[in-house]
Amino acid sequence: MFKDLKGRRVLVTGSTSGIGLAVARHLRAAGALVGFHGHTAEAPETIAADLAEAGENAAFFSADLTRTENCRTLVESFVARFGGLDVLVSNAGGLVGRRGLEVLDDEFYDKVMDLNARSALMTTRFAIPHLRASVQATGQTSAVISTGSIAGREGGGPGSSVYAASKAWLHAAQRNWVKEFTKDRIRFNVVAPGSIVTAFHDDKDQATLDRISGTIPMGRFGTTDEVAPAYLFLASHACSGYITGQILDVNGGQICP
Ligand code: NAP
Repeated sequence: MFKDLKGRRVLVTGSTSGIGLAVARHLRAAGALVGFHGHTAEAPETIAADLAEAGENAAFFSADLTRTENCRTLVESFVARFGGLDVLVSNAGGLVGRRGLEVLDDEFYDKVMDLNARSALMTTRFAIPHLRASVQATGQTSAVISTGSIAGREGGGPGSSVYAASKAWLHAAQRNWVKEFTKDRIRFNVVAPGSIVTAFHDDKDQATLDRISGTIPMGRFGTTDEVAPAYLFLASHACSGYITGQILDVNGGQICP
């Protein structure tokens, strides 16, 4: 499966841990050339073995994507290293913190929106010319797969209104990009994870985790390895060349929109 991903040049933002790391590893296993990305200056220990094993076929890029200029530099650095970009996985993001409406301020709002909306918007923006060039060179559709969230559909947990809205923003933005770039044969899809075991949930105690598990028909959180194949499916022209503008929910039945 996913045989056509062999040799495809894929940048995965936020791939030093969690969902992004699993996506990058599954892509590597399928033979893709993968850009790992995180926001620490040096490649973290979590991916040292991946980089060593991949050799020339993977590289680490550091960028704080809350700043537009860094989104540009990241895309340009990836293209300089791999000679082009066929698929962008725009996954970097996070909760930042929990704030009820009455204690929200501009600084918190900016932090959450910069991390989840600006980062995806600007990374995608700077990727577009390269994705267009990829289509012309390869004859296959190119793809942007963004990480949305169940929160973008149902509003999120306590104190996460801005985060949930940033993901809903992303769900809507990609549908707009479909209208703008389908003529260029660039596809846009979102994977919307439910509750997945990653550092994202480090702020929760066991009782809270158990309560959330009780709201999931499958009775448990998902694993990153259970989410990653959805991204490969949407990256593969052979598997999803006629699919664009969709939100693929991977959530154990937690919400059925
Ligand atoms: P994670 O393990 O904390 O991964 C977050 C990734 O984003 C890391 O690679 C991190 O890199 C990167 N990142 C953080 N701040 C950044 C910044 N300023 N600039 C660039 N990169 C930055 O958590 P995760 O759960 O896998 O999250 C991945 C995505 O899934 C996020 O968009 C999140 O909102 C979404 N999501 C998660 C769940 C869930 O249940 N886990 C559910 C729905 C959606 P560094 O380590 O270098 O900081």
